[in-house]
Amino acid sequence: MREINNNPEWLGKKFGRLTVIGFRRVENGENHAWAWDCKCDCGNIVYGIRPRSIKSGQTASCGCLKEEQNIHNLAEKRRTHGKSQSRLYGIWSKMKDRCNREKSPVYKNYGGRGIKLCDEWEHNFQAFYDWAISHGYSSDLTIERKDVNKGYCPENCCWITKEEQARNKRNLRMVELDGEEVTLKEACRRMNLPYKAIHLRITRYGMSVEDALNTPFIDKKNCLAQKCRDHGLPYGTVRARLKSGWSEERALSEPIHEEKGPRRKQKE
Ligand SMILES: [Zn+2]
Repeated sequence: MREINNNPEWLGKKFGRLTVIGFRRVENGENHAWAWDCKCDCGNIVYGIRPRSIKSGQTASCGCLKEEQNIHNLAEKRRTHGKSQSRLYGIWSKMKDRCNREKSPVYKNYGGRGIKLCDEWEHNFQAFYDWAISHGYSSDLTIERKDVNKGYCPENCCWITKEEQARNKRNLRMVELDGEEVTLKEACRRMNLPYKAIHLRITRYGMSVEDALNTPFIDKKNCLAQKCRDHGLPYGTVRARLKSGWSEERALSEPIHEEKGPRRKQKE
């Protein structure tokens, strides 16, 4: 049965790129087997291939097929590498721009408040690229800093979807108040809080929205401002009263319309 592989009928048969052109006897210990010599489409001649390997398709060329596939794979790899490289390069250079270039329109929110790239990324795109590829980068994701008050570095960055990013930004602006979703501005209005200061607490000082709304202002000036709000009096008026020597208690308790009254009385 073993001899069947030297049946002349195999001659001229084609498998993949290989055409059987001859047989050779291969000694294998006490036994022997028949191997095939083949001519490849590319012109190479290969001697002594195991027939089983050819019939099963395991060997389909002199080796030129695999080589071509390798070249193709390599080209494909380069192509996708090139693509992600150029997108990541854009992300990297925009990052540097908003942190370093004072004329950038968003510099004040980045470099202007100390947001920088770590040394490694600042001077080395390849370092940023390697981190991105090994940390789940894909072309539909965008870079996000976990802590908005910290800079761009491996520990503080991750890749998130645009939807996630939009949600994060939205969360900054929307607040749940008494079971209702309202804008931060509206929440401040209802809670009688200074919107600008609250917004700064969140964007510049990294407070959570909840903390920003619930932490009292400890600044002296703001303490007075808060008292004014509590008493429903304009801050300017109360300050003017204090400057003219009123006690704080009186400055905060006397309604505005009576202000002129007592003064006039004093003069009379
Ligand atoms: Zn070949």
